[in-house]
Amino acid sequence: MTKILLGCIADDMTGATDLANNLVRAGMRVIQTTGVPAEPLDSQADAVVVALKSRTIPAEMAVKQSLEALQWLQQQGAQQIYFKYCSTFDSTPEGNIGPVLEALMKALDCNFTICTPAFPDNGRTVFKGHLFVGDVLLSESGMRQHPLTPMTNANLVQVLQAQCQVQVGLIDYRSVARGCQSIRESISVLRAQGAGAAIVDAISNDDLLRLGTALKDMPLVTGGSGLAMGLPQNFGINPSPVASELPPAQGWRAVVSGSCSVATNRQVVNFIRAGMPALAIDPLQIAAGIDVVSQALAWATPLLAHQPVLVYSTADAGSVHAVQTRLGACEAGALVEDAIAAIVLGLVQLGARQLIVAGGETSGACVQSLGIKRMTIGPQIDSGVPWCHARSDAAEGASLHIALKSGNFGSDDFFLKAFELLR
Ligand code: ADP
Repeated sequence: MTKILLGCIADDMTGATDLANNLVRAGMRVIQTTGVPAEPLDSQADAVVVALKSRTIPAEMAVKQSLEALQWLQQQGAQQIYFKYCSTFDSTPEGNIGPVLEALMKALDCNFTICTPAFPDNGRTVFKGHLFVGDVLLSESGMRQHPLTPMTNANLVQVLQAQCQVQVGLIDYRSVARGCQSIRESISVLRAQGAGAAIVDAISNDDLLRLGTALKDMPLVTGGSGLAMGLPQNFGINPSPVASELPPAQGWRAVVSGSCSVATNRQVVNFIRAGMPALAIDPLQIAAGIDVVSQALAWATPLLAHQPVLVYSTADAGSVHAVQTRLGACEAGALVEDAIAAIVLGLVQLGARQLIVAGGETSGACVQSLGIKRMTIGPQIDSGVPWCHARSDAAEGASLHIALKSGNFGSDDFFLKAFELLR
């Protein structure tokens, strides 16, 4: 059996890919699984990221799933466990970051861990325990109005303490700036004071690299994806292009998009302006019982052999609001996700083998309809989004290259740039 070094548990699908991408860039060969696998790992990897969908489910379910993931990762030989959450610390006063963190600590018999969602390359920095999104505090960012996890307090020590029994302390930027020894001393001091967890400041990649070195012997670490950049070095692994090698790409190219984020809207416009074929699908038509899936596949069939195609429900905020008012937000979301998931499977059955999926929830639905159980992580297209290689159990084991892009990631020319990278 192949043994892994680092075992990771991510609370959502595109967040898992973001973490995997950073580990690959730091030199690890990484496999991402959809949920907890039933079988042992049968291929070589330095790290496995188990992607859960546990961010906003009830806390006890998130704990249960995370413990199952932990047990599987331990069976694969993981020497260190990484619990990954969103770089905007998405959670509610009930969790799920705190309860999962405490359950993992208990299961690992670990009496201290650290937490930092910092990812300076993506504008997430932590200073004196306060999380900044770009130039503003978390509580002044768009996350204030998030429909599921509104973040109204940027003081992460307070936010985590509200979700935890263990005492939460702070390792501030001065200690981090002084390096590994200083960080370890801060950990000892906090432990002696009775703390079980600490938010750690990080305002630069160098901070995360120094922190990584200090965490060498910690059984459990927790954070956003940025913390990943400093961990592979502890296992004697350095950046190498070999880590991101994938089999050669083949087959036709397609993009499906159910993301309505600002960046995705720009990417759809850019693709259409480049003269590429694109078909919009309308949630109201789906709700009216029109078979948009068959229509989209009939439209794509003669085009696929010649150039990449795009099928999208992407729309601006006004149109989305109008649809949600008519259908309800959840119902509209589910209708569109189901339609796009069926379209992507149909496209693969027609011969598409290079796929881009835009949207976090949309990605989850597509991975499920394609029957993708695990992905090998390849080269980065844009920050947080790598190409991956997978097999589609729902399409007779078809070998696929797939990129899962969460809403606000990627440059305007992301779709065409991504296909170019695979050539
Ligand atoms: P993002 O990563 O940009 O947030 P997601 O896929 O996570 O994208 O979420 C977008 C949600 O919006 C999905 O549930 C999707 O089905 C839904 N949706 C997509 N297009 C529309 C539309 N035109 N009107 C209403 N809802 C839509």
